[in-house]
Amino acid sequence: MKVLYNNQFKNRDEVVIDIEDRGYQFGDGIYEVMRVYNRNVFTLDEHLARFVRSAAELKIQLPYSVEDIKTMLLELVEQNHLEEGSIYVQITRGTSMRNHSFPAQSVSPVLIAYPLPKKNPSQEQQQGIKMKLVEDMRWLRCDIKSLNLLYNVMAKQEALDHQCYEALLHRNGTITEGSSTNFFAVKDGKLYTHPANNLILNGITRLEIRKLCEANDMTMIEKELTINGIESFDEAFITSTTLEIVPVTQIDDTVIGQGEPGEMTKRLQMLFQALI
Ligand code: PMP
Repeated sequence: MKVLYNNQFKNRDEVVIDIEDRGYQFGDGIYEVMRVYNRNVFTLDEHLARFVRSAAELKIQLPYSVEDIKTMLLELVEQNHLEEGSIYVQITRGTSMRNHSFPAQSVSPVLIAYPLPKKNPSQEQQQGIKMKLVEDMRWLRCDIKSLNLLYNVMAKQEALDHQCYEALLHRNGTITEGSSTNFFAVKDGKLYTHPANNLILNGITRLEIRKLCEANDMTMIEKELTINGIESFDEAFITSTTLEIVPVTQIDDTVIGQGEPGEMTKRLQMLFQALI
């Protein structure tokens, strides 16, 4: 496997991350996961725009221009002959003696990128999944795609421990998102999802769903849903770069709709497949 390390391509075992890398010690960094379909990086510009935004929010100075990063990521796909799969990209604030305050300007951020193998979520996409309600106890800047994923990891495991595929996070009864997915519900033919504010990550797939709704005469409303309303959902689904659109058929003990993927969900799945 070829790995991008700053602006060099190396074999995986040649890349050494320092014990004082701030990503390792503080989670002081950001990342993106992008999907490769047929050797093309899907929504590459959108992912890079979010990467730039996350970096700016954390005051991490990107050491390369967006154009250069784009060129290097495309080269990574080539060097790995990656037909189908994903690429993981992260940048940390850099390596410096352990200290909470930002290091000196002379410390450069560390960029790495490497391919992830293709996940095949087709069973989930066809049959749907169960979600487990978990209280959202993350920090209040969930809009930044930072390396601090500890609560996301814990929530996901809590779901798995209860034979559920994904956690459905709620803050005082307001549904926010999944541990690594955005959440949507259909009620009376309209699609609802949490507004893109500091409480969720504004998913690139979420943005594609919005475009698909606009282009196909479907209504998507960005409005908070509450856990009290779960029984009134006709359909529900989650989205992410790796899962695309996965129907939700049960949340805790509540069966959603008929307990199988809903019509609007299936229509969006079809439209999404046509996009990619
Ligand atoms: N929310 C969270 C917390 C996530 O980690 C992810 C996956 N990166 C998403 C939503 C979905 O985002 P995207 O569609 O950009 O993969």
